[in-house]
Amino acid sequence: MENNDNFYLEDNLNEILKIVEKSKKDGNNDRAKLIAVSKTFSADKIEYLYNLGIRDFGESRVQEFLDKYEKLSHLDINWHFIGHLQKNKVKYIVDKVYLIHSVDSLGLANEINKQAEKHNLVSKILVQVNISNDEKKFGVMDNKLIEFIDELKELENVEFSGLMTILVDTDDDELKNSYYNKMLKLSIDILDKIKDNRNQIELSMGMSSDFDIAIKNGATLIRVGTRLFGKR
Ligand SMILES: *Cc1c(COP(=O)(O)O)cnc(C)c1O
Repeated sequence: MENNDNFYLEDNLNEILKIVEKSKKDGNNDRAKLIAVSKTFSADKIEYLYNLGIRDFGESRVQEFLDKYEKLSHLDINWHFIGHLQKNKVKYIVDKVYLIHSVDSLGLANEINKQAEKHNLVSKILVQVNISNDEKKFGVMDNKLIEFIDELKELENVEFSGLMTILVDTDDDELKNSYYNKMLKLSIDILDKIKDNRNQIELSMGMSSDFDIAIKNGATLIRVGTRLFGKR
């Protein structure tokens, strides 16, 4: 579908990709991949970006995701579920998403396992970490993480794929840098402690205001909304 109103998306995308490339070089990180966070934006805009080569899109509300999933079923999109997920909604999305970023309780992990088993698939998940130990944020505290991931090993239809975090709202770049660096160290430490022989797991971190800082600290998935689509 051609829509001239969407030209700004191409400009924004090119600007973001330029910063991504520079940050990858600066941070010696060749893995960082852009997820276009399309929540609140139309299927039409997603298709426009798809036609510019973007394949990874992030959504955070189940019903909205399902509407777009259906409208865009002709496209080969990797859908990332990045929002807080309620157990009773897992059944609607488990066979449609590529990666669930926001697993923060064993109850939720168990439900994903159960629904994935019904579909005879293995669901890839990230564990959300509350790296800033903020009571208002979701996520597993870093000192509980090893135990949490060990428990996931029991679930045959769930594949632990890495860590995700959402930082406290702050303009302090140094603080952000220290949290993202803590995430990187945590991910390295975890591979050692859980005796996992992968040499890297996914690190989903960085949003519009700080994806460059996240990439320099080893982010493999950055989640960018506003900077790409404009204000929600
Ligand atoms: C909305 C959202 C983003 C994107 O945030 P922007 O600041 O618009 O880039 C990233 N991650 C999560 C979990 C979100 O809900």
